[in-house]
Amino acid sequence: MDLHIFFLPFLAPGHMIPMIDLARLFADRGAKATIITTTANVPLIQPTIDLANNSLQHQIQLLAIPFPYSESGILEGHENITAFSNPDLTPEFYAAICMLEAPFRQLANDHHPDCIISDVFYPWSASLALELGIPRLLLHITSFFSIILVGAIGRLKPHESVASDEQPFVVPEIPHRIEMTRSQLPGFIIGTPLSDFYKQLGDSHRSTYGTIVNSFHEMEHDYVDQLKERGDMKLWQVGPVSLRNQNLHDKLVRGHKASADCDRCLSWLDTKKPRSVLYICFGSLGRFTRTQLCEIASGLEASAHPFIWVVRYGGEPSEWLPEGFEERVICRGRGLIISGWAPQLLILNHEVVGGFVTHCGWNSCMEGASAGLPMITWPLFGEQFFNEKLIVDVLRIGIAIGAKVCRSKEEERMMVRREEIRRAVNELMGSGEEADGRRERAREVGKMARRAVEEGGGSYNELSSLIEDLLSLKAGKIQSAKAGE
Ligand code: UDP
Repeated sequence: MDLHIFFLPFLAPGHMIPMIDLARLFADRGAKATIITTTANVPLIQPTIDLANNSLQHQIQLLAIPFPYSESGILEGHENITAFSNPDLTPEFYAAICMLEAPFRQLANDHHPDCIISDVFYPWSASLALELGIPRLLLHITSFFSIILVGAIGRLKPHESVASDEQPFVVPEIPHRIEMTRSQLPGFIIGTPLSDFYKQLGDSHRSTYGTIVNSFHEMEHDYVDQLKERGDMKLWQVGPVSLRNQNLHDKLVRGHKASADCDRCLSWLDTKKPRSVLYICFGSLGRFTRTQLCEIASGLEASAHPFIWVVRYGGEPSEWLPEGFEERVICRGRGLIISGWAPQLLILNHEVVGGFVTHCGWNSCMEGASAGLPMITWPLFGEQFFNEKLIVDVLRIGIAIGAKVCRSKEEERMMVRREEIRRAVNELMGSGEEADGRRERAREVGKMARRAVEEGGGSYNELSSLIEDLLSLKAGKIQSAKAGE
């Protein structure tokens, strides 16, 4: 019996990329996978699908629906969160993605999927699946750790009994002692203009068949076990899904065509010594003010290590680079700046890369951990400050840069000074007992990640049991339809 699954990724790279990886994992196991996205997002996915389809029993289908520009009032060309100046979900964009329900329903009626795997940002897919009589699963693009911390803080509100935004509180009722401050909490905990939207997300969670998480047991076992023991939802951890991308071409086209700097980047990497290079990237949305960019450049220059730095900035580098940086650092081969999209998996897994500065988006955390790299954590917004705690305090494979303020808008964040950056880089990339211990632990996590997705590994088995579960639901449905005839 075949399983036909509709995959519904949210329109942002950090959500689309793991959903496509997941669709490919299902397709590898013989399921028929159909990915639905809007027209302008097709080119971001198509190259990956074309490559994958060379070797599959069922071709992965990509179906496009038009983006509702005129009905929503969204400006033409703004079909992906990356087109906006900051990563906050605006009420207009949210209204637009709600309008995707009607064309999606039409496709579901035409193609009769057995199951919908939806992003959490489409609450309407819960009632639609109910109407179609099929299960709806969520792909959660975050850690078990952060789900538990958000739940504990939301329920017990420890941040309300501290005197100021900067005074630390201990997160209650969790397996480790984790301190946070109110200033590190995301808007969806401390109040947000979209709180109605978040309420709808909560309601749609309750009518969901189960949740898939891009994680693996060894990465956060206390938290996986705690959430599963509660038994209030079915959960499967099937990650790291990024490890589905093993060959060069997969890594080159994942998420976006790599920018023109890519060839230059690969030949530059080939000139460096093993484990000597630091890779710096703040995800698909992490932007900074010119002053902060200049501070990062100066910190990197002052550190003793070669680096590749991915920068998202609309203007010319001359607007923020320190005077003479180009000649002193770039021309001498000490550093490389990529403006635009970097082939992150390719870089992280290159043998010369020895450390990763990350904004702690969950995909990046998983990718850095799977590559066995120690990290410098520099969270910016959303649940990234929770992920930082997992990397630094629980797994002890990272050094916190010292960011304290969770904000989507770059001008509202606290400045991290060049001296802090230099110190963290030298600590991470240097030698000594502490640095070596951190490197060793990171290498162990990387090995565990690879074992988890191998045949017989924990995540591999979780995916098998999820597929069995879905197949038996389908068989039950067919049987009761026959009985009712
Ligand atoms: N990514 C990439 N190249 C870039 C920037 C990001 O390949 O230049 C990928 C990265 O590998 C990850 C995703 O985009 O899979 C970003 O997701 P994450 O959760 O780390 O951060 P977000 O962009 O959602 O803040």
